[in-house]
Amino acid sequence: MKEAQPRTIYLKDYQAPDYLIDRTDLHFELEPQATLVRSRLQVRRNPAAENPSQLPPLWLDGADLELLSVHIDGELVPAQRFREMPEGLSIDAPGETFELEINTRIDPQSNTSLEGLYLSNGMYCTQCEAEGFRKITYYPDRPDVMSVFTTTIVAPATYPVLLSNGNKVDSGTTEDGRLRVTWEDPFAKPAYLFALVGGDLQSVEDEFTTLSGRTIKLQLFTEAKNIGKCAHAMTSLKHAMRWDEEVYGREYDLDIFMIVAVDHFNMGAMENKGLNIFNSACVLASPETASDAAFQRIESIVAHEYFHNWSGNRVTCRDWFQLSLKEGFTVFRDAEFSADMNSRAVKRIEDVTLLRTAQFAEDAGPMSHPVRPDSYMEISNFYTLTVYEKGAEVVRMIHTILGADAFRRGSDLYFQRHDGCAVTCEDFVRAMEDANSADLAQFRRWYSQAGTPLLDVRDDYDPDGQTYTLRIKQHTPATPGQESKLPLHIPVAIGLLGENGEDLLLDESGATTLVLHLTEAEQEFIFHNIPMRPLPSLLRGFSAPVRVHYGYTDAQLQFLMQHDSDEFNRWDASQRLALNALGELQAQFRAGETMQAPQALISGFASVIDNTELDPALVAKMLSLPSAQELAEQEGEIDAAAIIAARKFTRDTLANALQAKFLARFRQLDLHKSYAPVAEDIAERSLKNTCLAYLCATATEEALALARAQFERAENMTDSAAALAALVEYATPEVAEASLNGFYSQWQQDTQVVETWFGLQSSSATYGTLERVKALMRHPAFEITNPNKVRAVIAGFAARNFTQFHRADGSGFEFLADQVIALDKVNPQIAARLVTPLTRWKKYRGEEGGKMRASVQRIMDSGTLSRDLYEVVSKSLA
Ligand code: ZN
Repeated sequence: MKEAQPRTIYLKDYQAPDYLIDRTDLHFELEPQATLVRSRLQVRRNPAAENPSQLPPLWLDGADLELLSVHIDGELVPAQRFREMPEGLSIDAPGETFELEINTRIDPQSNTSLEGLYLSNGMYCTQCEAEGFRKITYYPDRPDVMSVFTTTIVAPATYPVLLSNGNKVDSGTTEDGRLRVTWEDPFAKPAYLFALVGGDLQSVEDEFTTLSGRTIKLQLFTEAKNIGKCAHAMTSLKHAMRWDEEVYGREYDLDIFMIVAVDHFNMGAMENKGLNIFNSACVLASPETASDAAFQRIESIVAHEYFHNWSGNRVTCRDWFQLSLKEGFTVFRDAEFSADMNSRAVKRIEDVTLLRTAQFAEDAGPMSHPVRPDSYMEISNFYTLTVYEKGAEVVRMIHTILGADAFRRGSDLYFQRHDGCAVTCEDFVRAMEDANSADLAQFRRWYSQAGTPLLDVRDDYDPDGQTYTLRIKQHTPATPGQESKLPLHIPVAIGLLGENGEDLLLDESGATTLVLHLTEAEQEFIFHNIPMRPLPSLLRGFSAPVRVHYGYTDAQLQFLMQHDSDEFNRWDASQRLALNALGELQAQFRAGETMQAPQALISGFASVIDNTELDPALVAKMLSLPSAQELAEQEGEIDAAAIIAARKFTRDTLANALQAKFLARFRQLDLHKSYAPVAEDIAERSLKNTCLAYLCATATEEALALARAQFERAENMTDSAAALAALVEYATPEVAEASLNGFYSQWQQDTQVVETWFGLQSSSATYGTLERVKALMRHPAFEITNPNKVRAVIAGFAARNFTQFHRADGSGFEFLADQVIALDKVNPQIAARLVTPLTRWKKYRGEEGGKMRASVQRIMDSGTLSRDLYEVVSKSLA
């Protein structure tokens, strides 16, 4: 465990490294509890350091290491010449350049933090980003130290597959019969991109020919039992490689690209050079075991990690404050890739939903920070929705402001200028400017200013002058450490609808969508030759990560749902209509009144259910009510009971009122096609299963019979899990339990399906009670050391089961606090993420907020916390 009150690191204190490491030669002898690591470093004084004429001590980061010896230029270094400290090793430098050899011993077996070298189901693997390499050996573990790595791995013959970055250059057996393999990565890289894998693995192989005609070997490694679940990831990889050549002109550089699936992993996947390591859940799939959502997630994560080869690896980050340089850009790239492979509008809707529910909440909570943070205690806490998703929105806005061709010119200049370097967000923006003589001076504020801007829009029509005026105010609320905010440069894409729903022409060129450049706190935009009072379609395609207020009537929202040429805004109108209804119902509930059926919402939904002109996936999204979490994110104090009651009432009312339509559309889409994870079929299944869920909400025997029939017949996991979820939520507990048991006995050998089975129960508003969640934690398939299981059961309850977690007695909060305290000893990164729902206590009504706060305080008082957990808990209590 780390110290009780960790220090804060500031961007303003950045200093170039004192020493560079030109070459890094690593030698591993793998043993579960005593792995020996020998590291030989070619050290050189950094000419760009401060005071390069002096020779300060060489600082090497280290954690949980047992130091065996230090040699310099072949000579053993006596203990007086170095100092071992809790966070690293300081060594007196003998000169400008020297060879340093360090021998350490580590214990992968007891490493449950899943940072550094650890064992997952008997397989050795590593996770070094952000600061895990220091758990392998003493090293300048910072991304601006880039080195050429050679790695030799020695292991017993029971680990026949031994992998590291780059190309395999040698292999053989040692005198005592162990296997020995040497890998060399010709591209200089920071230590966070280092990877090593050792295990008894099988592989699937393929090939990719680059545009310039080079043949790349592709390999996907996994345990033998999963070998039939690799095809989709391999196809996705080849699509991503082609796309990056075509859209960004980026070719792959090594001769081999490897992916390894591991069951124990803190995040989704990791872009280690030439050797990506994946959470099994984000790479393994078959139609019988993985849902459409899982297929799409795999496609996008495989692409994301592959794209990092340029945006992250060839050009990397100078320091971790620049994390969004690689993550924001790469998320933007993978989102565009997914949009090109599937339905663009639906992909956008999914991303915006995540942003609105989770990123807006982060921006309004105690951990609020800019896309480029200016301080942190523990960098692992800053792999956030703000850095990733809002960071991607910032890159998207540059794309919108400059246009696609100019953006590509900027990207080309960025890669050309900075190839092989560790750079900053500023370097990215400057390349975009320089390639296009553009001015993004004010736009840069998006990187340094936290908080979600709110746009207040008013309009005015002058029938005599035929002019239409939009008046837009922007305001960004205060966030911790940033009291007052400056106006941002916000690209606001808009259209104007005429009385028949047609797009009006907005300028001489006949444009129907214009990007307004909002740069002032308050600004007026005037449109001429507008023949009638139009209805504005605001923020088309969600052109900026902001909230928009405009006094739409329900009738206007229904009109936009019918006519807007912007599919995203059609969906957005449906969500605004639902939010209006849910807001009113919450008010009725709080006032103790009987809740009234939301007529406008019912007729709005009625008009889209059977609209066969629209993409069924878009219809499914339009028929989906905002989640309780998203409702909680609306302004004002959160009243959990009111949210739960209003949402349940709305869902049940819609289900009953529109039953016949839901049934007709369900029947029409219930086609028993053979499975393919292609956009068209995914769309049909999503609408069919949306209809099924509404039908089951009526809890009628006929509806539940449909779900049972689908559950029994389903040949793919999408239909099977959707039917099971409906039964778990709406059938009697006996039927729910019988179905769950049947499902479990069919799939108990399959790790990914068991995770689905856990998550379905813990997140069910009716079935997922605290008692059942506690029972799941005692189930033999539950493992507290496996983050996927923890996320499925504990986060499934605390983050996705608003109804049960927010039970008025506060038992949900106490449970989460207990789990977080226990988990902090096992895996601090996961503990710090899991606690998030409690840390937002300030937004809740008095009594509930008080109970949540007390649970956070109890965590704080429970003893010495990890740096990860301490940071989020202390900021929540501040
Ligand atoms: Zn990434």
